[in-house]
Amino acid sequence: MSKVFALNAGSSSLKFSIYEIPSEEVVASGVIDRIGLGDSNITIKYNGEKHQDVKDVMDHDQATKTLLDKLESLNIIEDYDEIAGTGHRVVAGGERFKESALIDEEGLKTIEDLSEYAPLHNPAEAQVIRAFQELLPGKPAVAAFDTSFHTTMPEKAYLYGTPYEYYEKYGARRYGAHGTSHKYVSQRAAELMDKSVEEVNIITCHIGNGASITAVQGGQSIDTSMGFTPVAGVVMGTRSGDVDPSLLEFVMRKENLSMEEMLAVLNNKSGLLGISGVSSDMRDVEAAADQGNERAKIALEVYVNAVKRYIGSYLFELNGADAIVFTAGVGENSPEFRQAVLENTDRLGIELDKERNESVEEGLISTDDSKVKVFVIPTDEELMIVRDTVRLGNIK
Ligand code: ADP
Repeated sequence: MSKVFALNAGSSSLKFSIYEIPSEEVVASGVIDRIGLGDSNITIKYNGEKHQDVKDVMDHDQATKTLLDKLESLNIIEDYDEIAGTGHRVVAGGERFKESALIDEEGLKTIEDLSEYAPLHNPAEAQVIRAFQELLPGKPAVAAFDTSFHTTMPEKAYLYGTPYEYYEKYGARRYGAHGTSHKYVSQRAAELMDKSVEEVNIITCHIGNGASITAVQGGQSIDTSMGFTPVAGVVMGTRSGDVDPSLLEFVMRKENLSMEEMLAVLNNKSGLLGISGVSSDMRDVEAAADQGNERAKIALEVYVNAVKRYIGSYLFELNGADAIVFTAGVGENSPEFRQAVLENTDRLGIELDKERNESVEEGLISTDDSKVKVFVIPTDEELMIVRDTVRLGNIK
């Protein structure tokens, strides 16, 4: 039996899951947070127990080494030889990576070169890949890119209405994100419909802290709501989603903000948090709205309306959909949110089954008569990454 790691490096965190192959069972998982900030929490879940430690972890290279040391000291890994390969989520793959790839030195350089498109993520992810390659020489490292699934978008969907030379010179275009999740849930929805993914149109709604909606035609992404970066599209936990660029210049002048500060507001202080003033967490905002907080109520309405706007436009772009799928933290766990999004859509052939919507964990939540099927499907990006690692790394 071999072990394969799925790694997800954020700007200041490193999440991991360890899978046993071929059973695809998760044997351990956890996270190191506050990387670079001091007092990092190292949390490892193993055998139903949670192990915690605090240590100063100053970069992702040190985080990787700390993680492997910790796994050895807990006897989760006895020998590095047990580790057959590592799979890494990478945010920006640009136009270069149209699918997951086995990463060699040249691939690693390309990931680093793409850092301009994801300055907080790609350098951290490259550092983790490099650290594993040093610690486990010769073991396959596979990168799964958030953007790959969207590289099938046609020009008419990915180009902005800006001068074409910006695209030619700088790659200024829509790249999208959450691709691994949109791919997984669209394939799973086709399975649940007993159809091949090539013969169906599906609109996938990944609604977590970050949120994006994708139009999937015959298994390929043809349009998606996130843009050059993940700040675009629908309203999210702390991100604004789409805004008129002129508004930014106006607010920057009024509030005396630099572009960098304005972007930090759009990424970290907007969305549910910015409108409600309560929290970026959907549970808190729903609870506040239930208690009559008006700004929490309007934050939910703006969020729901943004999701409706995108689903509506994709229904039109796709000339109708066979299914709509909800996934990620909010999409999987908030029946209220799903119901609000699909309220008043019966004339479009969409009919939610209230009881199924309240109780189903994975499966159909529309009525048997609904022309468009609606599904809840828990996403599993890690499993997709591990499967790509096993396939590309030729792991038995
Ligand atoms: P991330 O984008 O960080 O991976 P997740 O997909 O885990 O985020 O989604 C986090 C969001 O899911 C939070 O806003 C959280 O409030 C929401 N969420 C989780 N459980 C529930 C629930 N039972 N009801 C409503 N929202 C939930």
